[in-house]
Amino acid sequence: MPKIGSASVAISTDGQTMETPAHNLNSTDSEKHGPKLPFRSAFPAEQPDSVHELTDALYAPFRLQNGSIHLSGCSIDSIPIVETSDHKYCLLNGEILSDRFAKSLGVQNIVESSEIPLVRNNAEQIASIRLELEKLADIQKLQTDSDNLVTLIWCHHVKGQVAVEFGDSTAYIAFSLWGKRLIDGLEQCPPYHCELTGSDSYRLGCDDDGTITDIESIRTCPESGRRLIINKFGKCQITNTLVDPAFLFQCPVSRRTILKRLAKQCRRCQQDVDPAAMRRRQCKACRDIKRVSPTDPRSQRIVEAFPKLAENRRWKMGEQSDFLIIEVQDVARSWTILVDHQTLKPALVVGRTGWFGPWKLAEASDWPDYVKSAGST
Ligand SMILES: [Zn+2]
Repeated sequence: MPKIGSASVAISTDGQTMETPAHNLNSTDSEKHGPKLPFRSAFPAEQPDSVHELTDALYAPFRLQNGSIHLSGCSIDSIPIVETSDHKYCLLNGEILSDRFAKSLGVQNIVESSEIPLVRNNAEQIASIRLELEKLADIQKLQTDSDNLVTLIWCHHVKGQVAVEFGDSTAYIAFSLWGKRLIDGLEQCPPYHCELTGSDSYRLGCDDDGTITDIESIRTCPESGRRLIINKFGKCQITNTLVDPAFLFQCPVSRRTILKRLAKQCRRCQQDVDPAAMRRRQCKACRDIKRVSPTDPRSQRIVEAFPKLAENRRWKMGEQSDFLIIEVQDVARSWTILVDHQTLKPALVVGRTGWFGPWKLAEASDWPDYVKSAGST
């Protein structure tokens, strides 16, 4: 007599929970709560009775790269399969099982028993199973006379989840399977579904960020040497290589995404830019700096923010993706001021003495009156 866990749910042939009939009938209860129900009770002669018997089959499909697998929860429920007097098989809800499927549950090799799996000891549950059988009798024309009883065959169904672990990262994979079919290799734990790649796989690994996925989706970045999911990589538009995005940046002038190490620094605005946007060590934005009409809305905004510029007719303007570039000249010096597009707050000031001196970053304390007049220092 197998030791059986609680029978609490009805399961369709595809393993989905359908409803919650209850089954609680031993001879003592029947005597207490009414006449015995018209069925025999039996169990497949061969089916797994303990979680221990299931683990090898549950783990079998998985191939883990430097990881481990264990059960994170598992319960065995006894589900009644109804054998009608003409040897057809169905669930209590009336769903017919094919002969082949029923056979795979072990229903053709059964051991009759006077016991049934015990759930809870109350009349409500007994009434529930009686009701289910009465409904089924209407559908399947079950024989209920004492000489030709239907048989309830209690088949073990298992559900729970396996956990795959890679260092501090853990992923859980839920399963809901018929025990005998699992042991016989007719069903198996589903694969792990990775939300990032959309893949369903048993071959699992973990990238250096701690993200678990299929091992085919993990690549090594040629720049950083880090192992990452391919979806996290970015593409350098100069070399066309896929790399860790930490090694990429978007050029504020060409707007191309390129490797940081390939960028050149513009001697005028001091920004790192795409080499394709550079000429004579100046970026295209700096080369294109020009005077702006006083009626241009951008000009009006800038003069509003920097009132002293109104006194200087020689200022010019250029644009990058993050900054507007203001160039101002007075008698002795030239200034290149980078201001935020939205706030017009100065972010950087580069100055040089005279017309041909080298451009140098200015400390905030040395920023010119044009900037200080805006109260930005
Ligand atoms: Zn520049």
